[in-house]
Amino acid sequence: MSIELSEAVRSRPVVIATNNAHKLDELRRIWDESGLVISIASLGDYPVYPEPDENAGTFEGNALIKARAAAAATGEIAVADDSGIAVDLLGGMPGVRSARWAGVGASAQASLDLLIAQLSDTSFEERTARFVCAMALVTPQGGEYVAEGTMEGNLVLEPKGENGFGYDPVFVAKGQNCTNGELTPAQKDALSHRGKAARALIPYLKKVLAGVE
Ligand code: IMP
Repeated sequence: MSIELSEAVRSRPVVIATNNAHKLDELRRIWDESGLVISIASLGDYPVYPEPDENAGTFEGNALIKARAAAAATGEIAVADDSGIAVDLLGGMPGVRSARWAGVGASAQASLDLLIAQLSDTSFEERTARFVCAMALVTPQGGEYVAEGTMEGNLVLEPKGENGFGYDPVFVAKGQNCTNGELTPAQKDALSHRGKAARALIPYLKKVLAGVE
């Protein structure tokens, strides 16, 4: 069912519950590119509230924790992304610990360096990995939806490219011959875990904004 959103509905903000500017930029771009015209607010537009503990142990659980906290604190529809990279040689790690792989407060560069060091003496073929994104939508009335997306690939040990963020400079997506860091933003969005999850969430978002659910 196609739902057209009225002007009034489109101007109701959807709060994106993240402090990661890269995620926010990607999400705006992906929805813009999909023709979704909505008003997006960031956490910076609201009074600061205590950050919830992301202790669910799964991407889906953590995304729900963040979206529930944002919906409760702002009284608006909230969307949160929890994502990371799962490396098969490391038993699926860093996984939900991707942002703080080198320790709480450590830089993204330190986490990237640690991952590279842990994979020394392995081959490109062995270094299979996937990015995973769970995107949760929570309404102030308690409605909840979660969409997931993954991107399969292999890791290189020499970072390349200036685009993207986090582990993008070492990730070569299946079928590509360069790292995510060397892809254009549009190329990354078309393939990425976040692109897939954000596009899958659109029908739910439209229903919620139109007040159908
Ligand atoms: P979160 O904020 O707890 O969801 O942590 C996400 C972390 O996973 C980021 O800080 C990055 O280290 C990694 N990550 C997630 N998505 C991407 C991506 O698209 N490119 C590169 N790294 C990513």
